Amino acid sequence: MSDKITIAEARKPEAIGRDVLLQGWVRTRRDSKGGFSFIELNDGSSMGSIQVVAPGELENYESVVKHLTAGSSIGVRGKVKESPGKGQATEVEAQAVTLYGTADPETYVLQKKRHSFEFLRTIAHLRPRTNTFGAIARVRNCVCRSIHDFFQEEGFLYIHTPIITASDCEGAGEMFQVTTLKLDDVPKKEGKVDFEQDFFDRPSYLTVSGQLEGEIFACALGKIYTFGPTFRAENSNTSRHLAEFWMVEPEMAFYELPDNMDLAERFLKRIFRDVLDRCPEDMEFFNDRIDKTVLETLQGIIASDFIRLPYTDAVDILTASGQKFEFPVSWGADLQAEHERFLTEQHFKCPVILYDYPRTIKPFYMKCNDDGKTVRAMDVLVPKVGEIIGGSQREERLDVLTDRMGEQGLEPEGYWWYLDLRRYGTVPHSGFGLGLERVIQFLTGMGNIRDVIPFPRTPGSAEF
Ligand code: ATP
Ligand code: MN
Repeated sequence: MSDKITIAEARKPEAIGRDVLLQGWVRTRRDSKGGFSFIELNDGSSMGSIQVVAPGELENYESVVKHLTAGSSIGVRGKVKESPGKGQATEVEAQAVTLYGTADPETYVLQKKRHSFEFLRTIAHLRPRTNTFGAIARVRNCVCRSIHDFFQEEGFLYIHTPIITASDCEGAGEMFQVTTLKLDDVPKKEGKVDFEQDFFDRPSYLTVSGQLEGEIFACALGKIYTFGPTFRAENSNTSRHLAEFWMVEPEMAFYELPDNMDLAERFLKRIFRDVLDRCPEDMEFFNDRIDKTVLETLQGIIASDFIRLPYTDAVDILTASGQKFEFPVSWGADLQAEHERFLTEQHFKCPVILYDYPRTIKPFYMKCNDDGKTVRAMDVLVPKVGEIIGGSQREERLDVLTDRMGEQGLEPEGYWWYLDLRRYGTVPHSGFGLGLERVIQFLTGMGNIRDVIPFPRTPGSAEF
């Protein structure tokens, strides 16, 4: 009996001499004059394919092997041999080839030709079969594993926060409403929609962040993290925003802002190091084909400290830079992507943690500084992608928090349980949110966030 192994395993020199069964999809077939064929076979277990040498003696050589086209699925029984060819350690000499499914070359679009990423988005059901999207899927998997490894090793508890919620954490109103009311026959009471007749007896939404619920668990169990889908109905057609994305949100009791920054920096470095260690072939590919600087940049980041800079100093640097920006810089205004990119790409040439932002541009839950003007917010910015992490120390003083809610026009009644955390055994605590897709973009150099998630949800697009 031959062992069923992956092509990734069969490509290693240790596999030489083994009798194996490989199953995958044909990338190319080439017939040699000597009466045999070479088949490049890929099963997604690694970027590289394996070369199958199919001798003319195979009983289905004329009827099947010689007609194999790109995209066909086959099984190959054979022996792993040392490859005489350059650039590959092994190849497989086939003793039997089984055809599972053909792919008509007249209509199958993934032939040798390279397609644009825009086009591949229209065939999201086939794009995982390309080198780029296979590599992205493997890197994404590696990052997710690393996220759990990091927090588990650090003693954090993985908590599941709800996807359907009645509270708007960011207060930005960019929420998808969840309802079972009939949109063409909405029940009304005193001229307004009667949400008491809705499924949850109140307006409810898809979550924009698990933070508020994360705080509940941090204020009981210490260090926790959530990792799940997050939804924002922001109608911004940018290369860095999705309507559905994945966010990792650690929340830590007894952590102040500097502790939060330390954690964020160690966390990112750990993810980067793991990907370089575990996905070297995929990362080489991104470095060759997508962005020639990714490897060098990542190695540089792992080896150096992030810059930590108060927002006020950042405004000074930007104003003094003499740089022409589309949006003017002034104290009190939110920084735009162009400003963030100037700081990380031109001025510091490394990741920057900006902190102590004006209180008027940040959500109610961030801890107020004594200056009366700023809050203990922090954003981690990286070259090309911009903001990758947003976080803060949370306001733990009941009176200040209720004042802040008033300032931002929020009704404290709806947040009674959140305020209770400050009424009973309140503690300093902090946390942040990391956008998974932004990390993958940064790691791979992929320009558009729609290409680093299997099925992107953006305005007007939810087909696959
Ligand atoms: P931005 O200013 O880029 O819209 P934000 O300030 O709204 O980000 P936060 O609310 O702080 O972001 O969310 C935490 C993290 O989640 C961000 O740093 C980013 O990595 C990620 N993120 C936020 N919105 C999106 C989105 N629409 N698509 C993908 N990732 C996002
Ligand atoms: Mn946003």
